[in-house]
Amino acid sequence: MGPMHPRRPTRPIYVGDARTGVIQIGGGLPNGRGEPTQPAPVVVQTMTAGYTHDVDRCVAEIHKLAAAGAEIVRVAVPERKDTDALREIIPQVRVPIVADVHFHFQRALEAVEAGVHKIRLNPGNISDREQVNAVIDACKERGIPIRIGVNEGSIIERKDKQRRKEELGKFFEGRKNGHLLALMIAKLEEYLDIFHAKDFHDVAISAKSMDASFVFDVYTEISQRFDYPLHLGVTHAGTKESGCIRSVAALGALMAHGVGDTIRISYASDPVYEVQDGLELLWSLGLRERKGVDLIACPTCGRIQVDLFTLVQDVRKALQDEITVPMKVAVMGCIVNGPGEAEGADVAVFAGDRRGIIYVQGERVANVPEPEILDRLLDECRKFQARVLSGEVKLGEKKVEIVPPDPIGALGSGFEKIAAGHVEHAGARPTELTVGRS
Ligand code: SF4
Repeated sequence: MGPMHPRRPTRPIYVGDARTGVIQIGGGLPNGRGEPTQPAPVVVQTMTAGYTHDVDRCVAEIHKLAAAGAEIVRVAVPERKDTDALREIIPQVRVPIVADVHFHFQRALEAVEAGVHKIRLNPGNISDREQVNAVIDACKERGIPIRIGVNEGSIIERKDKQRRKEELGKFFEGRKNGHLLALMIAKLEEYLDIFHAKDFHDVAISAKSMDASFVFDVYTEISQRFDYPLHLGVTHAGTKESGCIRSVAALGALMAHGVGDTIRISYASDPVYEVQDGLELLWSLGLRERKGVDLIACPTCGRIQVDLFTLVQDVRKALQDEITVPMKVAVMGCIVNGPGEAEGADVAVFAGDRRGIIYVQGERVANVPEPEILDRLLDECRKFQARVLSGEVKLGEKKVEIVPPDPIGALGSGFEKIAAGHVEHAGARPTELTVGRS
């Protein structure tokens, strides 16, 4: 078996309607009508950061998240005014909307009435069987799925804490956080009993924690016990910087094992970054077909002779909205490793001696001074996209092999400088990185 395992088959659920489009999550097992299904591509979702009852801003935020690539958007509905707002919001947006319900089961009923496409319930704060039954009945009537989302932070035992800890601790003895692992699985089993008693299987499951290794453990265990699609996430992951590492560690490892049907990366930051990074993770794992530029860039080193950090960021920002075909663009600091690393790139630039040589499909098309590199590179990318879209050229197709420039010629320091042991550097490098910021 290769490093990527096949997707784990699950029952599929369907989120959305004719207007928003219907998104399948999971699959591979027969659906509710007994029809065979295939696993759907892993779905990227996120959650709005603003107030749902602030209708115009909420709609604008959902549009922004959808434009960034979110396929499903969740909104908080803590108050009646939030579920009321859904009646105005849902007709204005083009992605399925999930109502995130905590504490008040009535919010779920109101959200269903308002036309929401999916409900998220938390067993940690809505556990009364009659209340859960009421939500299940309402969702069943309208064909709306429910995500059962147990979060480490909200399932702490309040009654008989010590006794439960000892009982449950036995199941995963010797495992890190064994008691918590058993507690989350027990909560899910107890909750699912209510759904099964109603013969309701339109269910997705999540079991989030802020601890990436625990997330890996708990989802691995859950994937072996239940055949429902899994919504992956590291919750309260922190800032974009630390949250990105935690999320990629846990979600990347799980998906490499075939586990996970939809993901939400969560940051204490603009949720657009959650969507962008979620998509990048799926593209990097080959689980979704890339949209837009695949940017390759060298990390720079003591050989650098142009301001590559700024150049790469400028290229990324300029191309992210303009380029829709998955072309590979390489921005390399010099010719030492440049040609090798740019192998396979559709458009590439090798910089050096305050100049840049630009290649398209391996063919040298320009040699320009540093101030002109950005504009010329962008221009070549746009022209290349137009040729791809017209069918004139194919992505990944090389006309000729890249012939690296002479290291002491066009981009090198020249014989005299090398003989003098002098290489001119790019000057002060930026001290503050802006990677990932627009
Ligand atoms: S491509 Fe050149 S400048 Fe960039 S890291 Fe490699 S050797 Fe250094």
